[in-house]
Amino acid sequence: MGIKVAAVFGTRPEAIKLAPVCRMLADATDIVYCGIDTGQHQHLMPPIMDRFGVPPAISLNLMTPGQTLIELESRMLKELSAVFRRESPDVVMVQGDTATAVMAAWAAFHEGVAVAHVEAGLRTYRPQSPFPEETFRRAIATFSRWNFAPSVTAAQNLLREAVPGKIVVTGNPVVDALAQILRWGLPSKTYFPIKEKAFRIIATIHRRENHPYLPDILGALDALARHPYVELFFPLHPNPAIVQTVHRLWNESPVHIIEPLEYEAWIHFMQTADLIISDSGGVQEEAPILGVPLLVAREETERPEVITEGYGLLVGHDRDTIVTTAIKILRGQVRFKQGSPYGDGKAARRIVYYLLHPNAPVDGLSM
Ligand code: UDP
Repeated sequence: MGIKVAAVFGTRPEAIKLAPVCRMLADATDIVYCGIDTGQHQHLMPPIMDRFGVPPAISLNLMTPGQTLIELESRMLKELSAVFRRESPDVVMVQGDTATAVMAAWAAFHEGVAVAHVEAGLRTYRPQSPFPEETFRRAIATFSRWNFAPSVTAAQNLLREAVPGKIVVTGNPVVDALAQILRWGLPSKTYFPIKEKAFRIIATIHRRENHPYLPDILGALDALARHPYVELFFPLHPNPAIVQTVHRLWNESPVHIIEPLEYEAWIHFMQTADLIISDSGGVQEEAPILGVPLLVAREETERPEVITEGYGLLVGHDRDTIVTTAIKILRGQVRFKQGSPYGDGKAARRIVYYLLHPNAPVDGLSM
Protein backbone atom coordinates (compact mmCIF):
# COMPACT_ATOMS: atom_id res chain seq x y z
CA MET A 1 0.00 0.00 0.00
CA GLY A 2 1.48 3.30 -1.06
CA ILE A 3 1.04 6.80 0.28
CA LYS A 4 -0.33 9.90 -1.40
CA VAL A 5 1.90 12.97 -1.11
CA ALA A 6 0.70 16.45 -2.05
CA ALA A 7 3.53 18.98 -2.51
CA VAL A 8 2.38 22.59 -2.22
CA PHE A 9 4.36 25.49 -3.68
CA GLY A 10 3.63 28.95 -5.05
CA THR A 11 6.81 31.02 -5.09
CA ARG A 12 10.01 30.94 -7.11
CA PRO A 13 12.29 29.48 -4.40
CA GLU A 14 9.73 26.82 -3.43
CA ALA A 15 9.41 25.58 -7.00
CA ILE A 16 13.20 25.53 -7.49
CA LYS A 17 13.86 23.62 -4.28
CA LEU A 18 10.93 21.21 -4.53
CA ALA A 19 11.36 20.35 -8.23
CA PRO A 20 13.93 17.55 -7.65
CA VAL A 21 11.90 16.23 -4.70
CA CYS A 22 8.70 16.21 -6.78
CA ARG A 23 10.53 14.38 -9.57
CA MET A 24 11.59 11.72 -7.08
CA LEU A 25 8.08 11.52 -5.57
CA ALA A 26 6.60 11.06 -9.04
CA ASP A 27 9.13 8.29 -9.80
CA ALA A 28 8.58 6.34 -6.56
CA THR A 29 6.39 3.30 -7.16
CA ASP A 30 4.93 3.39 -3.64
CA ILE A 31 3.89 7.05 -3.86
CA VAL A 32 0.98 8.76 -5.55
CA TYR A 33 2.20 12.30 -6.17
CA CYS A 34 0.09 15.42 -6.56
CA GLY A 35 1.61 18.91 -7.15
CA ILE A 36 -0.38 21.97 -6.07
CA ASP A 37 0.60 25.50 -7.17
CA THR A 38 -1.09 28.27 -5.15
CA GLY A 39 -0.03 30.97 -7.65
CA GLN A 40 1.58 33.20 -4.98
CA HIS A 41 4.35 34.28 -7.38
CA GLN A 42 2.46 34.06 -10.65
CA HIS A 43 4.83 36.46 -12.40
CA LEU A 44 8.08 35.00 -11.08
CA MET A 45 7.19 31.31 -11.22
CA PRO A 46 9.93 29.58 -13.20
CA PRO A 47 9.00 26.76 -15.60
CA ILE A 48 11.21 24.53 -13.46
CA MET A 49 8.50 21.99 -12.56
CA ASP A 50 7.87 21.48 -16.29
CA ARG A 51 11.62 21.18 -16.90
CA PHE A 52 11.80 18.44 -14.26
CA GLY A 53 8.79 16.77 -15.90
CA VAL A 54 6.42 17.32 -12.96
CA PRO A 55 3.96 20.13 -13.84
CA PRO A 56 1.45 20.74 -11.03
CA ALA A 57 -1.80 18.78 -11.28
CA ILE A 58 -3.66 21.59 -9.51
CA SER A 59 -3.14 25.35 -10.06
CA LEU A 60 -5.15 27.55 -7.71
CA ASN A 61 -4.25 31.00 -9.12
CA LEU A 62 -4.92 32.64 -5.78
CA MET A 63 -2.99 35.86 -6.39
CA THR A 64 -5.07 38.81 -7.55
CA PRO A 65 -3.82 42.38 -8.17
CA GLY A 66 -3.63 44.58 -5.07
CA GLN A 67 -4.41 41.70 -2.72
CA THR A 68 -2.90 42.06 0.77
CA LEU A 69 -0.89 39.23 2.30
CA ILE A 70 -3.67 38.66 4.86
CA GLU A 71 -6.28 38.35 2.09
CA LEU A 72 -4.05 35.96 0.19
CA GLU A 73 -3.39 33.89 3.30
CA SER A 74 -7.07 33.55 4.21
CA ARG A 75 -7.94 32.46 0.67
CA MET A 76 -5.08 29.97 0.73
CA LEU A 77 -6.25 28.44 4.00
CA LYS A 78 -9.79 27.99 2.73
CA GLU A 79 -8.91 26.72 -0.75
CA LEU A 80 -6.11 24.42 0.36
CA SER A 81 -8.33 22.87 3.05
CA ALA A 82 -10.93 22.14 0.36
CA VAL A 83 -8.28 20.61 -1.93
CA PHE A 84 -6.92 18.43 0.87
CA ARG A 85 -10.45 17.22 1.72
CA ARG A 86 -11.06 16.37 -1.92
CA GLU A 87 -7.66 14.78 -2.67
CA SER A 88 -7.17 13.05 0.73
CA PRO A 89 -3.34 13.05 0.76
CA ASP A 90 -1.52 11.16 3.51
CA VAL A 91 1.24 13.77 3.56
CA VAL A 92 1.34 17.47 2.67
CA MET A 93 4.85 18.62 1.77
CA VAL A 94 5.83 22.28 2.16
CA GLN A 95 9.14 24.09 1.70
CA GLY A 96 10.73 27.03 3.49
CA ASP A 97 8.87 29.90 5.10
CA THR A 98 6.42 31.52 2.68
CA ALA A 99 2.72 32.29 3.13
CA THR A 100 2.02 29.29 0.89
CA ALA A 101 4.09 27.00 3.15
CA VAL A 102 2.56 28.11 6.45
CA MET A 103 -1.02 28.14 5.15
CA ALA A 104 -0.64 24.70 3.57
CA ALA A 105 0.78 23.36 6.85
CA TRP A 106 -2.03 24.94 8.82
CA ALA A 107 -4.72 23.63 6.45
CA ALA A 108 -3.16 20.15 6.59
CA PHE A 109 -3.18 20.30 10.40
CA HIS A 110 -6.91 21.13 10.36
CA GLU A 111 -7.62 18.30 7.94
CA GLY A 112 -5.60 15.84 10.02
CA VAL A 113 -2.94 15.34 7.34
CA ALA A 114 0.75 14.82 8.26
CA VAL A 115 3.07 17.69 7.27
CA ALA A 116 6.58 17.21 5.86
CA HIS A 117 8.70 20.38 5.99
CA VAL A 118 11.64 20.74 3.61
CA GLU A 119 14.36 23.25 4.67
CA ALA A 120 13.26 23.04 8.29
CA GLY A 121 15.07 24.66 11.23
CA LEU A 122 16.41 27.90 9.69
CA ARG A 123 16.34 30.58 12.39
CA THR A 124 17.51 34.05 13.30
CA TYR A 125 15.35 34.04 16.47
CA ARG A 126 14.29 37.59 15.60
CA PRO A 127 10.65 37.79 14.54
CA GLN A 128 11.24 41.00 12.58
CA SER A 129 14.20 39.67 10.61
CA PRO A 130 13.09 38.26 8.30
CA PHE A 131 9.46 39.29 8.73
CA PRO A 132 7.13 37.41 8.51
CA GLU A 133 9.26 34.42 7.44
CA GLU A 134 10.93 33.78 10.83
CA THR A 135 7.54 33.34 12.50
CA PHE A 136 6.13 31.36 9.57
CA ARG A 137 8.91 28.78 9.73
CA ARG A 138 8.62 28.45 13.49
CA ALA A 139 4.87 27.93 13.13
CA ILE A 140 5.40 25.24 10.48
CA ALA A 141 7.63 23.32 12.92
CA THR A 142 4.70 23.03 15.35
CA PHE A 143 2.61 21.29 12.63
CA SER A 144 5.27 19.05 11.09
CA ARG A 145 5.63 15.31 11.47
CA TRP A 146 8.85 15.40 9.43
CA ASN A 147 11.40 18.20 9.66
CA PHE A 148 13.90 17.80 6.82
CA ALA A 149 16.80 20.01 7.91
CA PRO A 150 19.38 21.28 5.40
CA SER A 151 22.25 21.29 7.94
CA VAL A 152 23.23 20.08 11.40
CA THR A 153 22.86 23.67 12.73
CA ALA A 154 19.26 23.77 11.52
CA ALA A 155 18.56 20.36 13.10
CA GLN A 156 20.08 21.54 16.38
CA ASN A 157 17.76 24.56 16.39
CA LEU A 158 14.79 22.21 16.12
CA LEU A 159 16.15 19.87 18.80
CA ARG A 160 16.56 22.82 21.17
CA GLU A 161 12.98 23.91 20.49
CA ALA A 162 11.79 20.35 21.21
CA VAL A 163 9.52 20.38 18.14
CA PRO A 164 7.07 17.47 18.06
CA GLY A 165 8.11 15.91 14.70
CA LYS A 166 11.01 13.79 13.54
CA ILE A 167 14.19 15.68 12.61
CA VAL A 168 16.41 14.43 9.80
CA VAL A 169 19.42 16.16 8.27
CA THR A 170 18.93 15.63 4.53
CA GLY A 171 20.75 18.59 2.98
CA ASN A 172 18.93 21.18 0.88
CA PRO A 173 17.42 20.02 -2.43
CA VAL A 174 18.55 23.30 -4.01
CA VAL A 175 21.91 21.51 -4.33
CA ASP A 176 20.16 18.68 -6.21
CA ALA A 177 18.36 21.17 -8.50
CA LEU A 178 21.54 23.02 -9.32
CA ALA A 179 23.53 19.84 -9.95
CA GLN A 180 20.84 18.67 -12.38
CA ILE A 181 20.87 21.98 -14.24
CA LEU A 182 24.65 21.87 -14.56
CA ARG A 183 24.36 18.29 -15.89
CA TRP A 184 21.86 19.46 -18.53
CA GLY A 185 24.41 22.04 -19.65
CA LEU A 186 24.20 25.53 -21.05
CA PRO A 187 20.94 26.33 -22.88
CA SER A 188 21.37 27.38 -26.51
CA LYS A 189 20.41 30.98 -25.71
CA THR A 190 23.26 32.66 -23.82
CA TYR A 191 22.96 35.90 -21.96
CA PHE A 192 25.04 39.08 -21.88
CA PRO A 193 28.43 38.21 -23.40
CA ILE A 194 31.29 39.19 -21.12
CA LYS A 195 32.83 42.56 -21.85
CA GLU A 196 36.56 42.43 -22.27
CA LYS A 197 38.60 43.75 -19.35
CA ALA A 198 35.54 44.15 -17.15
CA PHE A 199 34.76 42.55 -13.81
CA ARG A 200 31.19 41.37 -13.70
CA ILE A 201 29.14 41.91 -10.57
CA ILE A 202 25.61 40.51 -10.34
CA ALA A 203 23.40 41.80 -7.54
CA THR A 204 19.91 40.88 -6.31
CA ILE A 205 18.23 42.81 -3.51
CA HIS A 206 14.59 42.41 -2.51
CA ARG A 207 14.17 41.34 1.15
CA ARG A 208 11.57 43.29 3.08
CA GLU A 209 13.90 43.94 6.03
CA ASN A 210 16.28 45.70 3.61
CA HIS A 211 13.68 48.16 2.29
CA PRO A 212 14.64 50.92 4.78
CA TYR A 213 18.28 50.56 3.68
CA LEU A 214 17.72 50.57 -0.08
CA PRO A 215 19.30 54.04 -0.53
CA ASP A 216 22.54 52.74 1.09
CA ILE A 217 22.66 49.40 -0.70
CA LEU A 218 21.61 50.75 -4.11
CA GLY A 219 24.05 53.65 -3.59
CA ALA A 220 26.87 51.13 -3.08
CA LEU A 221 25.90 49.20 -6.22
CA ASP A 222 25.75 52.42 -8.23
CA ALA A 223 29.21 53.45 -6.97
CA LEU A 224 30.63 50.05 -7.98
CA ALA A 225 29.00 50.24 -11.42
CA ARG A 226 30.73 53.60 -12.01
CA HIS A 227 34.15 51.94 -11.74
CA PRO A 228 35.58 51.78 -15.30
CA TYR A 229 36.46 48.09 -14.97
CA VAL A 230 33.14 46.97 -13.55
CA GLU A 231 29.85 46.07 -15.20
CA LEU A 232 27.02 45.47 -12.77
CA PHE A 233 23.79 43.59 -13.55
CA PHE A 234 20.70 43.81 -11.38
CA PRO A 235 17.70 41.56 -12.10
CA LEU A 236 14.80 43.64 -10.88
CA HIS A 237 12.50 41.85 -8.43
CA PRO A 238 8.86 42.79 -9.25
CA ASN A 239 8.08 43.86 -5.66
CA PRO A 240 6.62 47.38 -6.17
CA ALA A 241 8.69 48.87 -3.31
CA ILE A 242 11.89 47.72 -5.05
CA VAL A 243 10.77 48.75 -8.53
CA GLN A 244 9.85 52.28 -7.42
CA THR A 245 13.02 52.87 -5.39
CA VAL A 246 15.28 51.50 -8.13
CA HIS A 247 13.75 53.74 -10.76
CA ARG A 248 13.91 56.77 -8.47
CA LEU A 249 17.51 56.28 -7.31
CA TRP A 250 19.01 54.85 -10.50
CA ASN A 251 17.67 57.35 -12.97
CA GLU A 252 21.15 58.05 -14.32
CA SER A 253 22.94 54.96 -13.14
CA PRO A 254 25.22 52.75 -15.26
CA VAL A 255 23.80 49.67 -13.49
CA HIS A 256 22.29 47.26 -16.04
CA ILE A 257 18.76 46.72 -14.75
CA ILE A 258 17.45 43.50 -16.28
CA GLU A 259 14.31 41.37 -16.09
CA PRO A 260 14.59 38.37 -13.74
CA LEU A 261 15.99 35.43 -15.68
CA GLU A 262 14.38 32.03 -15.89
CA TYR A 263 16.19 29.76 -13.40
CA GLU A 264 18.24 27.63 -15.79
CA ALA A 265 19.57 30.68 -17.66
CA TRP A 266 20.10 32.46 -14.34
CA ILE A 267 22.35 29.70 -13.01
CA HIS A 268 24.54 29.92 -16.09
CA PHE A 269 24.52 33.71 -15.89
CA MET A 270 25.60 33.61 -12.22
CA GLN A 271 28.55 31.44 -13.25
CA THR A 272 29.87 34.32 -15.38
CA ALA A 273 30.11 36.66 -12.36
CA ASP A 274 33.30 37.67 -10.57
CA LEU A 275 31.23 38.67 -7.56
CA ILE A 276 27.64 38.27 -6.42
CA ILE A 277 26.06 40.71 -3.96
CA SER A 278 22.69 39.53 -2.67
CA ASP A 279 20.20 39.36 0.17
CA SER A 280 18.36 36.35 -1.31
CA GLY A 281 18.29 33.11 0.63
CA GLY A 282 18.56 30.93 -2.46
CA VAL A 283 21.45 32.91 -3.96
CA GLN A 284 23.41 32.47 -0.69
CA GLU A 285 23.12 28.72 -1.23
CA GLU A 286 23.87 28.75 -4.95
CA ALA A 287 26.82 31.16 -5.36
CA PRO A 288 29.25 29.02 -3.28
CA ILE A 289 28.38 25.91 -5.33
CA LEU A 290 29.19 27.84 -8.49
CA GLY A 291 32.44 29.08 -6.92
CA VAL A 292 31.51 32.74 -7.22
CA PRO A 293 32.57 35.09 -4.36
CA LEU A 294 29.52 36.17 -2.36
CA LEU A 295 28.68 39.23 -0.31
CA VAL A 296 25.50 38.91 1.75
CA ALA A 297 23.94 42.36 2.09
CA ARG A 298 22.09 41.70 5.33
CA GLU A 299 22.69 42.29 9.02
CA GLU A 300 22.33 38.60 9.82
CA THR A 301 21.51 35.38 8.03
CA GLU A 302 19.58 32.24 8.88
CA ARG A 303 22.18 30.43 6.78
CA PRO A 304 25.12 30.97 9.16
CA GLU A 305 27.19 28.12 7.68
CA VAL A 306 27.75 30.21 4.54
CA ILE A 307 29.57 32.80 6.65
CA THR A 308 31.18 30.73 9.43
CA GLU A 309 32.55 28.13 7.02
CA GLY A 310 34.05 30.71 4.64
CA TYR A 311 31.69 30.49 1.63
CA GLY A 312 30.70 34.16 1.79
CA LEU A 313 30.99 37.41 3.75
CA LEU A 314 28.22 39.22 5.61
CA VAL A 315 28.49 42.95 4.78
CA GLY A 316 25.24 44.43 6.07
CA HIS A 317 23.90 47.50 4.31
CA ASP A 318 26.54 50.17 4.93
CA ARG A 319 27.45 51.81 1.62
CA ASP A 320 31.21 52.18 2.20
CA THR A 321 31.60 48.70 3.67
CA ILE A 322 29.92 47.14 0.64
CA VAL A 323 32.05 49.13 -1.81
CA THR A 324 35.42 48.58 -0.10
CA THR A 325 34.78 44.88 0.50
CA ALA A 326 33.67 44.37 -3.10
CA ILE A 327 36.80 46.09 -4.43
CA LYS A 328 39.01 43.96 -2.17
CA ILE A 329 37.38 40.83 -3.57
CA LEU A 330 37.82 41.96 -7.18
CA ARG A 331 41.49 42.63 -6.37
CA GLY A 332 41.76 39.00 -5.22
CA GLN A 333 42.49 39.90 -1.60
CA VAL A 334 39.81 37.64 -0.08
CA ARG A 335 39.58 33.87 -0.54
CA PHE A 336 36.30 31.95 -0.49
CA LYS A 337 35.57 28.26 -0.13
CA GLN A 338 33.77 26.57 -3.04
CA GLY A 339 31.11 23.90 -2.46
CA SER A 340 28.09 23.67 -0.21
CA PRO A 341 27.41 23.35 3.49
CA TYR A 342 23.93 22.11 2.46
CA GLY A 343 24.60 18.61 1.32
CA ASP A 344 25.78 16.46 -1.54
CA GLY A 345 22.88 16.77 -4.00
CA LYS A 346 21.03 13.73 -2.61
CA ALA A 347 18.56 15.55 -0.36
CA ALA A 348 15.54 14.62 -2.52
CA ARG A 349 16.40 10.93 -2.31
CA ARG A 350 16.73 11.08 1.50
CA ILE A 351 13.46 12.99 1.89
CA VAL A 352 11.54 10.40 -0.13
CA TYR A 353 13.26 7.54 1.70
CA TYR A 354 12.22 8.87 5.12
CA LEU A 355 8.64 9.49 3.96
CA LEU A 356 8.43 5.85 2.88
CA HIS A 357 10.27 4.56 5.99
CA PRO A 358 8.97 6.73 8.84
CA ASN A 359 10.57 4.48 11.46
CA ALA A 360 14.04 4.39 9.91
CA PRO A 361 16.76 5.39 12.37
CA VAL A 362 18.31 8.83 11.90
CA ASP A 363 21.62 8.80 13.77
CA GLY A 364 20.53 10.51 16.95
CA LEU A 365 18.67 13.32 15.25
CA SER A 366 15.18 11.86 15.69
CA MET A 367 13.03 12.87 18.63
N1 UDP B 1 16.62 33.67 -9.27
C1 UDP B 1 16.22 33.40 -10.58
N2 UDP B 1 16.31 34.39 -11.50
C2 UDP B 1 16.75 35.64 -11.22
C3 UDP B 1 17.13 35.92 -9.87
C4 UDP B 1 17.05 34.91 -8.93
O1 UDP B 1 15.82 32.28 -10.90
O2 UDP B 1 16.81 36.49 -12.11
C5 UDP B 1 16.53 32.57 -8.28
C6 UDP B 1 17.70 32.47 -7.32
O3 UDP B 1 18.76 31.77 -7.86
C7 UDP B 1 17.09 31.74 -6.13
C8 UDP B 1 15.66 32.18 -6.16
O4 UDP B 1 15.43 32.80 -7.42
O5 UDP B 1 17.14 30.35 -6.24
C9 UDP B 1 15.47 33.16 -5.06
O6 UDP B 1 14.20 33.62 -5.03
P1 UDP B 1 13.86 34.90 -4.17
O7 UDP B 1 15.01 35.85 -4.27
O8 UDP B 1 12.51 35.31 -4.63
O9 UDP B 1 13.68 34.34 -2.70
P2 UDP B 1 14.67 33.99 -1.50
O10 UDP B 1 15.76 33.11 -2.00
O11 UDP B 1 15.20 35.26 -0.91
O12 UDP B 1 13.76 33.27 -0.57
